[in-house]
Amino acid sequence: MAIAIRKVGVIGAGQMGNGIAHVCAASGFDVRLNDLSEDRLNSALATINGNLARQVARGQLDEADRQASIARIIPATSFNDLSDCDLVIEAATEHEETKRKIFSDICPVLRPDALLASNTSSISITRLAASTDRPERFIGMHFMNPVPMMQLVELIRGIATEDTTFEQAKDFIRALNKTITIAEDFPAFIVNRILLPMVNEAIYTLYEGVGSVDSIDTAMRLGANHPMGPLQLADFIGLDVCLSVMQVLHEGLADSKYRPCPLLVKYVEAGWLGRKTQRGFYDYRGEKPLPTR
Ligand code: NAD
Repeated sequence: MAIAIRKVGVIGAGQMGNGIAHVCAASGFDVRLNDLSEDRLNSALATINGNLARQVARGQLDEADRQASIARIIPATSFNDLSDCDLVIEAATEHEETKRKIFSDICPVLRPDALLASNTSSISITRLAASTDRPERFIGMHFMNPVPMMQLVELIRGIATEDTTFEQAKDFIRALNKTITIAEDFPAFIVNRILLPMVNEAIYTLYEGVGSVDSIDTAMRLGANHPMGPLQLADFIGLDVCLSVMQVLHEGLADSKYRPCPLLVKYVEAGWLGRKTQRGFYDYRGEKPLPTR
């Protein structure tokens, strides 16, 4: 029997988790937002509040809805606080062991009929589902960044995902006013399978000296009409996320065309992860972003 989704747990309150919590709350769902520390939760709530306020300023939301939305998000440092959720969406760091540990810790506290979803950008849904006690009620729900602004959600069924789960997930995404695209469970699904090799190629173009940061981004913005250049986009996604998606493509499809650029590896090793650490292909610490190469 399908359960009605009313209460949504979100694990990981980083850029994706806070966006998912935001759109769920704004669509009337009760949200329990979990992360490793109170500090991270407080900073996520401040970000969500700021983003909701921006929507009010743009006339997309009224002030009463902003207040009601923020009140629907309850921070939770323990998985026990997620025990009565109808759906839990995992949006923690893109690291398979981390995600597996989360699933093995959360499953025992969830109701048996609760649905589980992962927002992973690239990891096999079937493999993640196998680390839970409910592979038939597990699904890939891949939101795009920034969640409040991006229209698409990729839905990915694992081999065991039941039709009822798939239908409930579709209804849930529609209730968020988002558009669904369906991808098969192959490394990085559709959007990142196509997008990330393009970003990686832009980094190779920089690495090989074909162009500077500025010339590469200008070329793709004005020459291909992309809204942002590929290096700007890499900084926006997070260079650690970009690297880990390329590694999954490289290992999962065993094709050398997906090898991550050594310069991407170097930036990640330096801790220059893009906007979230204030430095990546651009330095964001000053008034305007300056290329770092
Ligand atoms: P992020 O680094 O901004 O946030 C990850 C959060 O997870 C951090 O706050 C971290 O403290 C938390 N976390 C780590 N281990 C945890 C645990 N055991 N329990 C609870 N919280 C934990 O990363 P992000 O960009 O928000 O990415 C999150 C997920 O979304 C990843 O799977 C990523 O692949 C996917 N994703 C990212 C993008 C993007 O553009 N960044 C787009 C779509 C999907």
